[in-house]
Amino acid sequence: MGHTMNSARSFLFKKRRWIQGLIGLGVFAGASYFGINLWLVVGVGAVTGIVFGKVFCRWACPIGFIMEIITGLGGPDSAFQGMYQYHKIGCPIAWISGALNKVSAFKLRVDESTCLTCGLCDKACYLSTLEPARFSLFKRNKERPGDAFACSRCMACVTACPNGSLTYGLGKPRRTLPAAEPVQPE
Ligand code: SF4
Ligand code: SF4
Repeated sequence: MGHTMNSARSFLFKKRRWIQGLIGLGVFAGASYFGINLWLVVGVGAVTGIVFGKVFCRWACPIGFIMEIITGLGGPDSAFQGMYQYHKIGCPIAWISGALNKVSAFKLRVDESTCLTCGLCDKACYLSTLEPARFSLFKRNKERPGDAFACSRCMACVTACPNGSLTYGLGKPRRTLPAAEPVQPE
């Protein structure tokens, strides 16, 4: 059962852009042709942040979809990723749900007992790539990008993890390693 759930989740994460395109098209059609109040969309987008964090931007936003197609062509370390962030400056959904990343029920979690410290998750994450001195998904002396305002739950990190040590779900991460070494200056 657990294995089936994990496989389904991993399939969904790999197809994220298709899902974003389809839901985004629905949101766009709903708001422009069927007269769904835009504030309702804003409210729903923001409330999902309490449960899932900032999922709307990368899973349901039509503008985000277009921006990601443009900026995604450059890969995670491209300067285009900065451009992707700029388009959200005036968006209330991004602001509210981004602020909720820290407290959302679903979080990115590392199982330190199985983590290979291979760093593939950090290479896949645009935040860890752009600010490696500040962020890491598995190193103890860094901030977790999943808690940061800019994490849009793209799941590139989870998809990149070769052995399922990095997951997105409810509850706290497993911590079974000895206490972290004191933080060394970069
Ligand atoms: S979901 Fe993972 S890869 Fe994407 S921004 Fe958040 S921490 Fe980085
Ligand atoms: S990709 Fe997975 S195994 Fe590798 S460092 Fe990240 S969490 Fe650990």
